[in-house]
Amino acid sequence: MERVYNFSAGPSMLPETVLKKAAEEMLCYGDSGMSVMEMSHRSPVYEKIISDAEGLLRTVMAIPDNYKVLFLQGGASTQFAAVPLNLLAKSKKADYILSGQFSTKAYKEAQKYGDIAVAASSKDANFSFVPRTDENSFRADADYVHICFNNTIYGTKFPYIPDTGDIPLVADMSSCILSEPIDVSRFGMIYAGAQKNMSAAGLTVVIVREDLLGNAREDTPTMLDYKVMADNGSMYNTPPCYCIYIAKLVYEWILSLGGLEKMKELNAKKAKLLYDYLDSQDYYAAPVEKESRSMMNVTFVTGDADLDKKFAAEASAAGLKNLKGHRSVGGMRASIYNAMPYEGVEKLVAFMKEFALANPKK
Ligand SMILES: *Cc1c(COP(=O)(O)O)cnc(C)c1O
Repeated sequence: MERVYNFSAGPSMLPETVLKKAAEEMLCYGDSGMSVMEMSHRSPVYEKIISDAEGLLRTVMAIPDNYKVLFLQGGASTQFAAVPLNLLAKSKKADYILSGQFSTKAYKEAQKYGDIAVAASSKDANFSFVPRTDENSFRADADYVHICFNNTIYGTKFPYIPDTGDIPLVADMSSCILSEPIDVSRFGMIYAGAQKNMSAAGLTVVIVREDLLGNAREDTPTMLDYKVMADNGSMYNTPPCYCIYIAKLVYEWILSLGGLEKMKELNAKKAKLLYDYLDSQDYYAAPVEKESRSMMNVTFVTGDADLDKKFAAEASAAGLKNLKGHRSVGGMRASIYNAMPYEGVEKLVAFMKEFALANPKK
């Protein structure tokens, strides 16, 4: 069977060159005589894989030297607890911007551990835009401010980096990491589940400024303590070895294309094709504010739940998979991460035109 265009929000498409390389090396990696899946994580050959992966990520994202890179498990959702456990270091206060479901989950989890406030929210508008803030939106003594930079479910992205003054800014970048260049130094910490734009499910990458380490609550589980993980090179226990290897291949692929500037150019071109079409007609509506539009997750609706359902089913039959919107939002969502080729979006737009003609609204 031919490969389909997979618009899933995650786990999602990986670059074909990466999958082919992994297939080539599946039985025997280099001259190791075994698969990466079978290797001891303490072996020199694997130690090179993980250190290359870290070095490549540092190069790709231009991560400053005073940041640690951690390869962890538990998904982005585990970070919803790990962040307050590690970073509620002084006042035990933190401020959260609620811009969607994941930031709300992060906020609720953090409430178990300290005095957590909502700095801004767009909940009343069904998270159809990213709330604006300025430095006065935050409590001066907050230990950190938390945001979700790209809202996977709603299809919005922060059009700005919040100005938090000296308060460390923590960002969940699960669905936008590696999609464009980002100034890491503006953040105290960045975290991302890998299954959207970086690797297979099972790996979570944490990028954290060194001065924020070492203040975890005493009762923090060892596995969630960033300092322990940093001191052990992400190998306090067995790391998600194979996912880290796939991530390494993805970083190599990004570099081979020209890095994150090039990635942004390619992603912007794909997103423009889809948004320009959405703006040019009135059969489909794009429910989010223009300025908050995500380049990675594009949401749209016909305004008729039965038509939406029909759209997703017929698109799937035509090889355009997983276009059904998140269960909490309805409509459609096209996730067009780095690995989605331009042709996939062209096919989608062509399908949308055909569908609109074939299914006139009453
Ligand atoms: C997918 C996603 C999550 C949840 O990730 P898990 O790895 O499943 O825990 C959290 N935040 C964002 C922004 C996501 O896109």
